[in-house]
Amino acid sequence: MLAAGVIAAAQDALDVVKVRDNVYMIAGAGSNITVQFGSDGAVVVDAGTQSQADAVVAAIRKITSQPIRYVVDTSDDADHVGGNEKVAKAGKTLFQTNNALGQGMTNGGAAAILSAEKVLIRMSAPTGKSSPFPTASWPTESYDQKRKYMYLNGEGIEVLHLPAAHTDGDSVVFFRRSDVVVAGDILDLTRFPVIDITRGGSLQGEIDALNRLVELAIPSVPLVSQSGGTYVIPGHGRVCDQLDVVEYRDMVTIIRDRVQDSMKKGMTLDDVQSAKPTQGYAARYGADSGAWTTKMFVAAIYKSLR
Ligand SMILES: [Zn+2]
Repeated sequence: MLAAGVIAAAQDALDVVKVRDNVYMIAGAGSNITVQFGSDGAVVVDAGTQSQADAVVAAIRKITSQPIRYVVDTSDDADHVGGNEKVAKAGKTLFQTNNALGQGMTNGGAAAILSAEKVLIRMSAPTGKSSPFPTASWPTESYDQKRKYMYLNGEGIEVLHLPAAHTDGDSVVFFRRSDVVVAGDILDLTRFPVIDITRGGSLQGEIDALNRLVELAIPSVPLVSQSGGTYVIPGHGRVCDQLDVVEYRDMVTIIRDRVQDSMKKGMTLDDVQSAKPTQGYAARYGADSGAWTTKMFVAAIYKSLR
């Protein structure tokens, strides 16, 4: 069991969980939200839904009086980026001028919003469609290399682009000294992983990304009786350790193998669905209705393998 405890429940139904002395998780506002803070300010990973943004800002204020400097988006899902504008505007840019009017300040003085380039492209809808998100919620900084790094609050922060997993714009954020990895929806403890093929996600990318999370995390060995090791914060659900990630990855690979075996026998997607390849896991992660059903998960695997 992890030592992290709920320290302040039910502020607008948000749970604030202390993960490390300077790293907290806020749950209940859509996606999990991670707050790392120190003398340089606060780095916030994911911003939750638009409707809960005021409550999220209030929760961050209770965690630290330091200004929010960065919002990092792990994907372009509305329950992760919906709060971008309010959380960023509640913060303050790291790059100020001495101009009293605030002219020349980056982002109009607000905190920076950082994401993989694909998130910015999708949120800004450059193909002529209108954007579902207001301009002030779009990332102000994007990156397209494998790794973007920062050094804030006395530790290295790696923002890693894991391509074509949940979507093609997934970022994982690794706080190196705190030893906390923020996984986004690559790791979703509340359901089967959402492999969104229409947004560039893929089964192999998802498995590769889970393997990368396993590699980044270190369990408490050889003194297994001690509480410790790397904490991995999923997009949704409770704080995990390396073994939780291993189990989740094994679940995905076992279901992949079952679907693959059925396909080798020439089974159609309907046949594969009837064979129930998610058996043993559907009770925990499956759903018959909603945004991501068990059938949609199996179909995504089938399409990825074909
Ligand atoms: Zn999510």
